[in-house]
Amino acid sequence: MTEQRKPRVVADTPLADTVLELMDNRVELLPWDVALEGCDDPVDGLYTYGHLEVDGSVMDRLSGLKVISNFGVGVDHINVQDARDRGIPVGNTPNVLNGATADMALTLMLASGRRLVEGDCYARSAEFTYYDPGYMLGREIHSETVGIVGMGRIGLEVARRCAAFNMNILYYNRRERTDLPPELNATYTSFDDLLTESDYVVLVCPLTDETRGLIGAEQLSKMKQTAILINIARGGVVDTDALTNALKNCEIYHAGLDVTEPEPLPRGHELLSLSNVTIAPHLGSATEQTRFKMAELSVENLMLGLAGEPLRTTV
Ligand code: NAP
Repeated sequence: MTEQRKPRVVADTPLADTVLELMDNRVELLPWDVALEGCDDPVDGLYTYGHLEVDGSVMDRLSGLKVISNFGVGVDHINVQDARDRGIPVGNTPNVLNGATADMALTLMLASGRRLVEGDCYARSAEFTYYDPGYMLGREIHSETVGIVGMGRIGLEVARRCAAFNMNILYYNRRERTDLPPELNATYTSFDDLLTESDYVVLVCPLTDETRGLIGAEQLSKMKQTAILINIARGGVVDTDALTNALKNCEIYHAGLDVTEPEPLPRGHELLSLSNVTIAPHLGSATEQTRFKMAELSVENLMLGLAGEPLRTTV
């Protein structure tokens, strides 16, 4: 009797140990080069772990491709229309990361408003010799106005946390939501009103052709000089040069960025030299618990797709 071959899966590596354990040797893993160069033998699945580009040309190089499973909810690196045209389902990991990503948005709001990173450096330095009630005054969070751009799954979790800080909540989506919990008292506004009225502008929309460069020089100039910009979405939603200029000229108070464009920023980039920006290396969903749930869901989607069954979560 001939042994059935394992499904062949091209994966973006290095894969985390958890992902490998969950795959449990059920697939034959092939290196990402195969996606770039193609191969003569059929490839059954594609597992995307980072942000390598997956478009129709990649899909066409992998004959027999049945599924693309993404570790993460954002799929700006995958041409979903190309996959749809070829009848290939694309799985992602929504919902399981809402809480962790929203927590990170609040972490950046608090750290930016209260100048935590600057304060940490100062507390460790030789310059800290006495407590001065006049130094390093920040901006309040409680009772201030937050403007959420992208009131989706994660945006709603950000709003819940802001409500607990007694914040006044504004939001902007392309469509008003009618299903928001009334206790949030969230007000749907125009994008311009959100920019001019918010003390914290939180970006949590997907990166699409429409949202690329959504925050540029013009939008930054509409924000309050005391406002704080938080980007937990994707770096490309903000024009990096415009933001650098606005921070340099103190046109806004501070920026808290989980994501940048490019990512990482080149080591000599001017943004890295400014004290009124706090940058995290894309840590939105990076907790042990959430990353485990993302691994479980993405591997489950992969295995379902390889078996020709509907995925648990598709884009
Ligand atoms: P979601 O539930 O689909 O929510 C996205 C929201 O953005 C929707 O409410 C949508 O409303 C709105 N939106 C879409 N296009 C818009 C536009 N042109 N202008 C204004 N609003 C727009 O997605 P999610 O699960 O909350 O995730 C959102 C994004 O967060 C992901 O795509 C990903 O890029 C990012 N993310 C980042 C991290 C991280 O580690 N930093 C982690 C997870 C997710 P309308 O359709 O009504 O406009």
